[in-house]
Amino acid sequence: MNAQECLNMLREMRDCVFSTADAEGRPQSRVIDVMLVEGEALYFCTARGKHFYRELEQNPHVAVTGLNDKWQTVRLSGRAERLTDQKRWIDRIFAENPSMNDVYPGESRYILEPFRIRAGTLELFDLGVSPIHRESFAFGGEQVRQKGFFITDTCIGCGTCAAGCPQRCIDAGTPYVIRQENCLHCGRCFEACPVGAIRRLEAEDGSPAG
Ligand code: SF4
Ligand code: SF4
Repeated sequence: MNAQECLNMLREMRDCVFSTADAEGRPQSRVIDVMLVEGEALYFCTARGKHFYRELEQNPHVAVTGLNDKWQTVRLSGRAERLTDQKRWIDRIFAENPSMNDVYPGESRYILEPFRIRAGTLELFDLGVSPIHRESFAFGGEQVRQKGFFITDTCIGCGTCAAGCPQRCIDAGTPYVIRQENCLHCGRCFEACPVGAIRRLEAEDGSPAG
């Protein structure tokens, strides 16, 4: 799996939740079609009258989440840019998504504005396998954000974390080791460790939890 394949999954899911922050900083979400994925970029559109459009103009940071029938979730966090050459892009989007003609027939399509996300971070979270599986990616020059937990050298090898892990994804060793690709980020091990040997990954690089 890589960033391009994750973006392709969002296109296949198509109806995804797009989240923004409004002028008061309150979260706002709505279901929007992923119209096109091409060359490590995701395209969508919205009408100039919508709150979504106004929020994007004020703060272009957007989170996109999709779920398929295999219980696989893809999350994207990136920055949306409004595209110039509006009519050409809207015509392209309608050519790729003919059902849009039912919603915006004829010339009414040009109330829509095209947007592109060409840089961001991605996470695949697969709840359809056991243990669960997760992978993180970045595209367009962004860096992968490390999340979750890791075990430091102060581990005394008591095994408490491994015994209580719901995904059994902690391997014995010196120190014990979390298999990051199978971790829920639930924090149960972090709370249970008697010597505080488990630390948050984001505390190490300053990136926020998610
Ligand atoms: S609970 Fe803490 S000390 Fe015990 S094995 Fe896990 S990390 Fe090591
Ligand atoms: S955060 Fe949860 S799933 Fe991950 S290793 Fe710790 S207990 Fe296991």
